[in-house]
Amino acid sequence: MGAPLHPVPGKAGRRLGLILPQPARRWYEATLFKPTWRAAADLLGLFFPSRCRVCQTPLHAVARLPICARCWLDAAPIADHAQCNVCGLPTGLRGVEVFQCQQCIAHPPRFALARSYGEYGGALRSMIHLLKYDEMIPLASPLGERLASVARAGDFGTCDAVAAVPLESSRRRARGYNQAELLAKVVARRMTLPLLDASALRRTRATTSQAGLTRAQRRENVRGAFEAQSKAVKDRVILLIDDVMTTGATLDACAAALRNAGATRVLCLSVARTPEPELNDANEPRQ
Ligand SMILES: [Zn+2]
Ligand SMILES: [Zn+2]
Repeated sequence: MGAPLHPVPGKAGRRLGLILPQPARRWYEATLFKPTWRAAADLLGLFFPSRCRVCQTPLHAVARLPICARCWLDAAPIADHAQCNVCGLPTGLRGVEVFQCQQCIAHPPRFALARSYGEYGGALRSMIHLLKYDEMIPLASPLGERLASVARAGDFGTCDAVAAVPLESSRRRARGYNQAELLAKVVARRMTLPLLDASALRRTRATTSQAGLTRAQRRENVRGAFEAQSKAVKDRVILLIDDVMTTGATLDACAAALRNAGATRVLCLSVARTPEPELNDANEPRQ
């Protein structure tokens, strides 16, 4: 793991979020997104100046999301380098037009295409953590908008419906939400496509953490772990959404379930792609 995301500021009370108990903190953050409460939140901001939740820089005004402009700039899209035509693996190369990575040749995935907004690191990684582990649910909106922008620029115009990679039910209950579903909701709205409900694609068994597993072990770990409902996906092109794509094993297993249930094609979008799947800390538990 990298540095802690939210070092506690030197003086207690610098951030209202730190001194309020969890329910009050949730309320405080939720009010930032309701116009009626905006003025009250601004007033609170005068007395409790907030900090950017990514880099801890003091914010001068209460923003819709407590993240500074510099961190938004840092969460940049994948550079315009060659990517694998299938899985979108960035190569860092220029001037290469038709390209398929070794993995896609050796183990052709069941999805037709996968693309990500950015690379998993820096501010984007922190934002995904805030959305997933810190209940900053409104972050799903700007991150989902970024996903939709990738979809608009690419080959996603043929999609008929949007689905999210499901969480295990115990984890879903514990967290209270599925971050992939929140992102999928935004993408579906932006693309004016129907969002399939959680019963259309679900996990059939718990899987162990993907952390530290090789590609082959990851594939084995999630093989057959998903099931799709034929009546929801048959003869449809499905746009499948997740937050992070590491080796693509989870997306591939979901795509297999969707295809087995009759989906004609599966196209995948994730917020971030890990550049070196087996060499960094992105091998976090698959939630
Ligand atoms: Zn910042
Ligand atoms: Zn590939």
